[in-house]
Amino acid sequence: MKVVKTIAEVREQVKQWRAEGLTVGLVPTMGYLHEGHASLIDASHRDNDRTVVSDFVNPMQFGPTEDLESYPRDLKHDTELAEAHGCDMIFNPEPEEMYNKNFSSFVDMTVLTEELCGLSRPVHFRGVCTVVSKLFNIVKPDRAYFGKKDAQQLAVIRHMVDDLNMDIEIIGCPIIRESDGLAKSSRNTYLNDNERKAALILSQSLEIGKSIIKNGVTDCKEIISAIKTKIESEPLAKIDYVKIVDVETIQQIEKLDRPALCAMAVYIGKTRLIDNFFTEDI
Ligand code: AMP
Repeated sequence: MKVVKTIAEVREQVKQWRAEGLTVGLVPTMGYLHEGHASLIDASHRDNDRTVVSDFVNPMQFGPTEDLESYPRDLKHDTELAEAHGCDMIFNPEPEEMYNKNFSSFVDMTVLTEELCGLSRPVHFRGVCTVVSKLFNIVKPDRAYFGKKDAQQLAVIRHMVDDLNMDIEIIGCPIIRESDGLAKSSRNTYLNDNERKAALILSQSLEIGKSIIKNGVTDCKEIISAIKTKIESEPLAKIDYVKIVDVETIQQIEKLDRPALCAMAVYIGKTRLIDNFFTEDI
């Protein structure tokens, strides 16, 4: 497996693969890989002849007060994990390789980015759409893999690909969790022991939401209220949002009369964690 730092090297390798008639899958990540990322690499390895993993902490998707500097990084670990799951090339550029000093083009999206994480992280999705567009242009994959963990991101990318006629199949992959239910995340490393225990409130409260829905409740206010009550029972937790939205438009709905996404962002101490479920997966 190759680890490359430049766009030219990626292009050269992908050109060779294309000349051999091979298909290419792309797994965009910010590194510090865990089993969640591994499941995306597995899916790409299953569907494609070659798999590229991008490993890039994208400065453009962090707000000025967010955790860009402290975001965990470990390229050696990432290389081992990615290779073990069938990755053929890691693209690990420096920020200057992706954004030259005159960089001035952005991919911006309205509507879908104006809810959920887009409200608390105003520059986030512009950074995500811009970097993912660049990665698509650099790698030109047949398929790209994204986790349902970042459900709004998945909807935004699907919408972008559709709006901008990008000829790439977007594959959404299930959330991988720790054995106690906490969704795996590179940011879980920020949690101390007490916070790690408290963080279970996210998945536990979502389970309450699911069971209410299974019992036939369709009123979103009622479902959200039960979830919030559970989260508020945990002293270390502070709710950013708990909302139920249409899976495609990411606009809030009042009744579960269409496929919906129940999503939350919750601070555990200083760490902001996200989790969700899709009603179609219940
Ligand atoms: P990140 O490195 O956090 O930007 O994530 C890179 C990709 O991995 C995104 O598509 C995420 O949705 C996905 N991902 C992160 N955590 C998980 C998880 N626990 N289960 C499934 N996919 C995940």
